[in-house]
Order: sequence, then C-alpha cells, then structure tokens
Amino acid sequence: MLKVDSVCAGYGHIQVLSEVSLTVMRGEIVTIVGANGAGKSTLLRTIMGSLPTRLGAVSFLDQRLTGLPPDRVAAAGIRLVPEGRRVFATLSVEENLRAGAYLRPKAEVTLALERVYATFPVLGERRRQLASTLSGGQQQMLALGRALAAEPRLLMLDEPSLGLAPKVVEEIFEHLTALRGAEIGILLVEQNARKALAIADRAYVLEHGRVVLEGAARDLYRNESVVNAYLGGKS
Ligand code: ATP
Repeated sequence: MLKVDSVCAGYGHIQVLSEVSLTVMRGEIVTIVGANGAGKSTLLRTIMGSLPTRLGAVSFLDQRLTGLPPDRVAAAGIRLVPEGRRVFATLSVEENLRAGAYLRPKAEVTLALERVYATFPVLGERRRQLASTLSGGQQQMLALGRALAAEPRLLMLDEPSLGLAPKVVEEIFEHLTALRGAEIGILLVEQNARKALAIADRAYVLEHGRVVLEGAARDLYRNESVVNAYLGGKS
C-alpha cells in the first residue's frame, strides 16, 4: 500500500531523514523503532505531507503523494494519530469524531460514529462531554476514534502509549491488534519497542535518520543489538 522510496527530509538547513525506504502492506502492522531524535516523527510528518519531501518519493496505492499537502494525503486514505493526541479540547467527543469523518458522505457519518462507539464504549457514554475533561487514556481513544471515523486505509500512530498507565496501554494495543483483520495498514512509532515489536509483523530500526535494520518483528525482537539498544537488555 505505502511505499517510501529513498526519502530525505528535514527542517531548515538540518537534514533529519537520509534516504529512508520502507513499505507497509495491506493488513500489516509495521513499527519503527529508534531512539529519541532518530527521526521517527519526522518520517510520519513527511508521509502525511506536513513536511516536504526533499528527495525521494512517497506513494500510496499507486498514487504519488510526494509534494501533496496533508488534506490531499488524508483524502487518499491516510490518517495520523499525532504524538500527544491533539484532540480538539474545546469540542465535545462527538464533535471531535465528526471532525475526523468530515470527508465522508453525510449519510455515512452516523454509521461511522456508531462503529467508533461500539469499539470504544466509553466514548459513547461521554459523547456530549468536552474532550478536555477526558482522562489521558480516553483522549488517546478519542484520537484513535477520530482517525478511525474516517475509515482510513492506512493508520499512522505516533507514540500512542506516551504518558499512559500500563493497563490503558494494554487496552490501546489490544485495539490496534484487533484492527489487523480490518485490512488496513498500520505504521506505528512507539517508544515502548517491546510492546510494538510484540504486535507488529515487520519493523524498521531508524538511527540518525537512516534505516539501519529491517525485518520480521519477531526476528528483531530476538536480535541482540536491538535487545540491548531498544529493549532494555534481556527480559
Ligand atoms: P522522539 O521520540 O523524541 O519524538 P523522533 O525519533 O520522533 O524522536 P523527531 O521528532 O523526528 O525524532 O526529531 C528528529 C530530529 O529533528 C531531532 O534532532 C529534532 O530535534 C529535530 N526536529 C524535530 N522537529 C523539529 C522542528 N520543528 N524544527 C527543527 N528541528 C526539529
């Protein structure tokens, strides 16, 4: 579905990504593992079109995305759940979800919202509540629900477990695993590499903006250098 081909990107005179290539196939969970500052968020921003691709190309379902603005990338079927959730604090839960579904035909919006409420019953119970009054875990579910309300073909997530209690993280990861059957691709950036590798099919290791290792997630989970660098040594 997604093909990132030798992409270079950065900020001002700083080059962050150097010739990064990766793919995500339909129904696949792919994770990007890397230290703070390796360029993981930069890669997601570049795919989403909020940061320009300086060299290389991004394509999705055979459509060239390189150079397209984020709204066109969204229209192609990609959604990013950003780091820190970024829900619309002064809007209600339902208004946030409607914002996620804004590109869908009116007749489909109610059904899309009902699907989100079926997946996250807590959002249904709090549909009239302001997003700012939700707990961190509920806000993460809202951010995920807002993306899913668009019924994307590719879902990208930036640090979904950040700042959440282990039980809530467990729940979020269960939802991601459940999405595997829905034929959508998932590209997951996650500091908790152990958890990410446990649910992913494939993984890429990013170091200083370069892919230094890639393979089946279960192989990387056992790779000694990955274990020592990103999984806190032997468990
Ligand atoms: P983290 O887990 O800390 O978010 P990351 O792997 O996602 O790390 P990025 O956020 O992509 O890393 O940052 C990669 C590099 O780009 C870092 O050196 C960072 O300081 C720099 N950077 C990120 N955002 C900007 C920006 N808006 N302007 C300038 N430099 C930036």
